[in-house]
Amino acid sequence: MRLDFTPEQEAFRAEVRTWLDAQLSGEFAHIREIQGISEGAEQRFPWERHLGRAGWNQLSWPKAFGGREANLFEQVIFHEEYARSGAPGRLSHVGLELVAPTIMAFGNDEQRQRFLKPTAEVEIIWAQLFSEPNAGSDLANVQTRARLEDRPGGQVWVLEGQKIWSSFAQYSQWGMALVRTEPGSVGSKGLSMLLIPLDAKGVDIRPIRQMSGGSSFNEVFLDGAETAAANVLGAAGEGWKVAMGTLTFERGVSTLGQQMGFRNELDHILRVAKENGAARNPGIAKRLARAQAELRTMRYTALRMLGGSGLSLAGLTYKLYYTSWHQRLGELAMDVLGPAGEIAVPGSDAYRLQKMYLESRSDSIWAGTSQIQRNIIAERGLGLPREGKAAR
Ligand SMILES: Cc1cc2nc3c(=O)[nH]c(=O)nc-3n(C[C@H](O)[C@H](O)[C@H](O)COP(=O)(O)OP(=O)(O)OC[C@H]3O[C@@H](n4cnc5c(N)ncnc54)[C@H](O)[C@@H]3O)c2cc1C
Repeated sequence: MRLDFTPEQEAFRAEVRTWLDAQLSGEFAHIREIQGISEGAEQRFPWERHLGRAGWNQLSWPKAFGGREANLFEQVIFHEEYARSGAPGRLSHVGLELVAPTIMAFGNDEQRQRFLKPTAEVEIIWAQLFSEPNAGSDLANVQTRARLEDRPGGQVWVLEGQKIWSSFAQYSQWGMALVRTEPGSVGSKGLSMLLIPLDAKGVDIRPIRQMSGGSSFNEVFLDGAETAAANVLGAAGEGWKVAMGTLTFERGVSTLGQQMGFRNELDHILRVAKENGAARNPGIAKRLARAQAELRTMRYTALRMLGGSGLSLAGLTYKLYYTSWHQRLGELAMDVLGPAGEIAVPGSDAYRLQKMYLESRSDSIWAGTSQIQRNIIAERGLGLPREGKAAR
């Protein structure tokens, strides 16, 4: 198996690196200073629009939808170089990595024409409106309802209910919402995926303040909000199938870029440990070395996983592994900082690492909690009895 890159792929890497370095030492130099998942939105969106206009946001998309049809390795290279450049993660990732692929897979021509280009160019920012207070791991328990009503201009869906944990909804113009459209239906039956304008009457978006100080997610209240009858993705009543499609896009090639981000974080911790003397502590030194070895193992596991196909055991274990690694890295960062880590002045090492530590606490929750990942590994990966049937 090849685990390095060909000369053509290295040439592509040089193209990406040259472009990013030119932008980030020019007009967008200030972008590198922005940290965390929720800081500096007003500066981040112009940068993300710039990426879209240059074609990088839609690198993997088919040419028919304005993309460059980059192969898997080119996508990996782009994500690695992006993280290496020090530019912050993209706030528009819900639109780019979840909603756009879902529209390509399940939308009709009119929806593709209308939404894909402005999504790539970050003229439309999207929120994923799946979770509810009583529908997280048990997503099929969605209770938000939508019914069709006549209006002078044609039929509309009228929505009632509440969504929660909706990342970046406060900046979004549109939401992709899983809702119940068949009255009396239960579980995964009777659901539909609606595209809803978030600046419409009846939509109330309330940011949730997080322990890191920022607000990356929101509560979204829908009280008579309306969207045109045509704004249903896939057929009405087939929302579950569409939602499952979306969730398969959640863990793609950006994983490798994420690892480059982890590399930057580990390098940062190593530098601080050398500067403040923490690296002389044998316990800390051992944990740093272990983090390094595990990161290298993760990189090869991820490459193997992306190169394979279907539902592999490596793929199933990967999210569980990297999220627990990242949480341990956050704890290591705080131990390296020592008491200095408790006082964080913006811009300081302590501020950046403390933010990383606090934000890493959510890694074991989003995109399927660690407990749910373990259930999936047990049932689908190892063929163990399904949950609830084990004791029979
Ligand atoms: C940073 C972040 C961003 C997010 N962004 C979005 C977003 O943009 N859009 C969106 O729709 N949602 C988003 N979410 C929500 C996320 O999908 C849910 O938090 C997640 O699915 C878990 O659901 P829950 O919070 O309701 O917890 P629950 O499902 O209530 O779980 C509570 C606890 O019970 C455990 N548990 C539940 N069921 C089982 C079981 N069968 N076996 C064993 N243990 C179980 C869980 O592991 C967890 O520890 C985000 C979450 C986070 C943390």
